Amino acid sequence: MGDTKLAATTYYQSGAYDSDLSIVAARAGAWMAARIPQVRRPAVVFDIDDTALSNWEVIKANDFGRVFKGPCRFLSDGPCGWVAWDLLGRSPAIPQSRATFRQARSLGAEVFFISGRDESQRAATERNLQAAGYDGYRRLILTPGESYYRSAADFKEPQRAAIEQAGYKIVANIGDQPSYLAGGMPKGPS
Ligand SMILES: [Mg+2]
Repeated sequence: MGDTKLAATTYYQSGAYDSDLSIVAARAGAWMAARIPQVRRPAVVFDIDDTALSNWEVIKANDFGRVFKGPCRFLSDGPCGWVAWDLLGRSPAIPQSRATFRQARSLGAEVFFISGRDESQRAATERNLQAAGYDGYRRLILTPGESYYRSAADFKEPQRAAIEQAGYKIVANIGDQPSYLAGGMPKGPS
């Protein structure tokens, strides 16, 4: 565990994380620029945590531990409960993701956020997204309170299907976890 934490910290602090973000954002941008004009009612899906917004501050404070409940009074040394952290609404934007978001909007796509955060965090999450510069998204989709999903895919895949059933074509799905991509893409109108 110690080696893994050190590797992750080094990855972040060396600038490698930042440059990898730039690389994937450039790829996403090139894809969207080519694909969005080709479809009717294009949509782009974004994850929030560690995609649109950075939680590095709380990850570091908790030394990579998953401190879920409890207060968040001890930044920057931790511990800080994740729910309380989310309610603070102070996560900064990941600039490359925000640029990708703005590019999607300017190319004419609607943006849907699909997050594993639950409905009790809606107001704080909307405030945080606004403060971080994410303006003009179509919808913020959160899990119902008290729900439990074995994997993020169990929640997110049906939500993407619902977006396509509403007549949108999802051209990009942007997130930091492989489970967000699991389940693939539903077949929808092109
Ligand atoms: Mg995430």
